[in-house]
Amino acid sequence: MKTIGHLINGTAHTGSGRSQDVYNPSTGTVDKQVLLASKATVEEAIAAAQAAFPAWRNTPAQKRARIMFRFKELLEANAEEICRLIGEEHGKISHDAMGELSRGIENVEYACGAPELLKGEHSKNVGPAIDSWSEFQPLGVVAGITPFNFPAMVPLWMYPMAIVCGNTFVLKPSERDPSSTLFIAELLMEAGLPAGVINVVNGDKEAVDTLLQDKRVQAVSFVGSTPIAEYIYTQASANGKRCQALGGAKNHAIVMPDADMDNAVSALTGAAFGSSGERCMALSVAVAVGDAAADALVSKMKAQMQSLKVGAFSDSSNDFGPVITKAHQEKVVGFINSAQEQGAEIVVDGRAPNVSGYENGFFVGGTLIDRVTPEMTCYQEEIFGPVLLVVRVDSMQQAMDLIDDHEYGNGTCIFTRDGEAARYFSDNILVGMVGINVPLPVPVAYHSFGGWKRSLFGDLHAYGPDAVRFYTKRKTITQRWPSAGVREGAQFAFPS
Ligand code: NAD
Repeated sequence: MKTIGHLINGTAHTGSGRSQDVYNPSTGTVDKQVLLASKATVEEAIAAAQAAFPAWRNTPAQKRARIMFRFKELLEANAEEICRLIGEEHGKISHDAMGELSRGIENVEYACGAPELLKGEHSKNVGPAIDSWSEFQPLGVVAGITPFNFPAMVPLWMYPMAIVCGNTFVLKPSERDPSSTLFIAELLMEAGLPAGVINVVNGDKEAVDTLLQDKRVQAVSFVGSTPIAEYIYTQASANGKRCQALGGAKNHAIVMPDADMDNAVSALTGAAFGSSGERCMALSVAVAVGDAAADALVSKMKAQMQSLKVGAFSDSSNDFGPVITKAHQEKVVGFINSAQEQGAEIVVDGRAPNVSGYENGFFVGGTLIDRVTPEMTCYQEEIFGPVLLVVRVDSMQQAMDLIDDHEYGNGTCIFTRDGEAARYFSDNILVGMVGINVPLPVPVAYHSFGGWKRSLFGDLHAYGPDAVRFYTKRKTITQRWPSAGVREGAQFAFPS
């Protein structure tokens, strides 16, 4: 059986400690084991990053960026292998894994602009013969902790920017699907990164807690579920670290009576069921305004779902694959059961899909539930499965109030032909990322990604311009070279 270890100081590392099974969720079998780093192994990775920092900090930004150019080429050349590894451990179909990878590569492309992004700000003659400038200096050792659902893309949100900004990095990927993440970091070494600048430690809470407590770690980027995000943010902040912790979601789409219903239905189908709904930007609630819109939505959706194909990652004709674990499959089915018990109407039932030849896989079929109300458990919690809820309301304001009252505020969208309604919605809704007739409004790499409310703890969003701010600290220098003409005696008043 294959064992997945760590990458420390540029070399493969096994370290000491425990291990855990890695499943192929399409077959339900265990084909690999992942090592779970002990405190000592994580400390070794931190020490390697700390040792690499002084030289890396002083490497010109252009040279750092050139490594990113080579990294991008290697990612493209190895795309098929990366997607195979994602499929084997996550269950994503190859076209979906390719989409994930290309969104990750976008972030590498953005990081290639480091010399431009790090130019700083300069003001000449802020006073007589006085110039002032701000520069963005790296923080030192930065840690990243990432979730299972985007094993390639989410780490690529973090370390390319952290590294081109002059930091060194310790990444702790999800222990449930670690191979593609580790392979990608090895490609970065192949691109010419000096040893110790990127380190990958696989592990669980022990590894995470070591990163949170170690004084050498200056900042932590986290993406995962809200309870863990809150824990990470609280602990990291208490230990004096800069922290951004992105959490869970419950993304609503408002379907207005004037919407192009065929467009809304096809967009909702992809956004609700793609990747088995295991996306933090998945649309999991459709809020239909008026019964006529709701009836049309439900009947068209039901018809469209007849052709949805759930199955193994290896068959690219499937629309989506299994969920990540048996326990998660049971949890998703539990939410559907609870919806039924609490009075909702199961229109399309995916609790027992027939996936011939893969009877032990962790599959849940596409599920549509109508007449959901806000008190129901399925509405309040993040399901993270291929389940679309329909809530019926009478007005757009009621729909917006529902969204605003929900604890999460990651993404949302509106389907309408009314520009005024769309503008009012995007101006006022309490959500960080908004789509107008766009179901998955994931910002491109040169904007930043982040939710509001309990979907993000911290101030700065992930990637894009916010990443430059997050991974650097500003230093402002004021300089005077007094010449005879402007030389003055001592001044005791506050400088003005
Ligand atoms: P998770 O919170 O279980 O795990 C995320 C990371 O935290 C993993 O590396 C894991 O090892 C670590 N971890 C888990 N339990 C821990 C503990 N008790 N102490 C310390 N570390 C711990 O999340 P997941 O199930 O891997 O990912 C799915 C979740 O991530 C969903 O809630 C999804 O919405 C969220 N997510 C959010 C975004 C976003 O941008 N907001 C993006 C992707 C995923």
